[in-house]
Amino acid sequence: LTIAVSSGGDAPVLARLIRARIEALLPANLGDLAAFAARFRDRIRAALPSLPARRALLDRVLSGRIADLVLAGDPAAAEAALEAELAHTPTHTGIVHLVGAGPGAADLLTLRAQRLLGEADVIVHDRLGTEAVLDLARRDAERVYVGKSRANHCLKQHEINELLVSLAREGKKVIRLKGGDPFVFGRGGEEAAALAAAAIPFEVVPGVTAALACAAQARIPLTHRDATRAVTLMTGHTADGVIAMDFDALVRTRATLAIYMGLHALPHLHRGLTTAGMPETTPAALIERGGTDRQRLLTGTLASITAQAPTWSDGGPALILVGEAVRHGTNWTA
Ligand code: SAH
Repeated sequence: LTIAVSSGGDAPVLARLIRARIEALLPANLGDLAAFAARFRDRIRAALPSLPARRALLDRVLSGRIADLVLAGDPAAAEAALEAELAHTPTHTGIVHLVGAGPGAADLLTLRAQRLLGEADVIVHDRLGTEAVLDLARRDAERVYVGKSRANHCLKQHEINELLVSLAREGKKVIRLKGGDPFVFGRGGEEAAALAAAAIPFEVVPGVTAALACAAQARIPLTHRDATRAVTLMTGHTADGVIAMDFDALVRTRATLAIYMGLHALPHLHRGLTTAGMPETTPAALIERGGTDRQRLLTGTLASITAQAPTWSDGGPALILVGEAVRHGTNWTA
């Protein structure tokens, strides 16, 4: 598939800018769709000799759920759906995209997420604070808030799973929008499993997870040749509040610890880590609302952050970084 933009030599820079805008609009793997159409050309012609009927089918195939399946990287499901169309037994099941919204800034979304937001019929989202991202959605798209915060669950996880399945069964193109990355402390794995069990087509679109967004915005490297070559994404929060962790292993690897939902557990983490031999003076940072324009940063040591966090935090989502690499942050002071 070739899409060409030319100014005939008059304004090559303008042509480049226009190309960049078109590229942002179209899926990078649009060629897969062209290849799919080519592969089934003869098959479709044989099944539908009449040109208007063929055109109507191709319109549906190239713009609807079959195209979604091809672009989501599931050609087998796309082929099965096409065969069902040709046999006049079309399936009406929609598709669910588990999409990472990143930390909240609209321009930290992936191009794929941005395109899907412009297409989806329904957006199932949880965090308020992703307004900038939601603004990119189709104006007439239905928005369903299933909000979750640490303590108050609006909809139980199994209810969210059921909602996704039933929306897809209505034939809708659904986005399940999740903060950061869907597969990092996002329960995306549970939703994916529920969709797979219900035979609903789905795809997972990664997002910039909090650890990466916070490190970047706070200018703190997660790895550093002179400090550590490993990062551990971990959480300080469990459903029952008890933290069973192998602190010895955490300390031994010397990995930078990126702690999600860690504020409340900080005293326990501090005790566990220092008991296992981590010095209290280990560099640490606390980043609130990282990757947004309301970000705040507190730097210090494991001891000082643990002491100051409760009064410093104003309740926004916060991530804690602990490890020798933090010392190399250009904003870090103890
Ligand atoms: N799937 C998400 C994480 C969900 S768990 C991701 O990949 O980022 C929610 C926790 O993530 C919050 O309690 C907080 O620890 C962290 N978090 C999410 N967004 C954040 C942000 N913008 N700044 C700091 N921490 C954030």
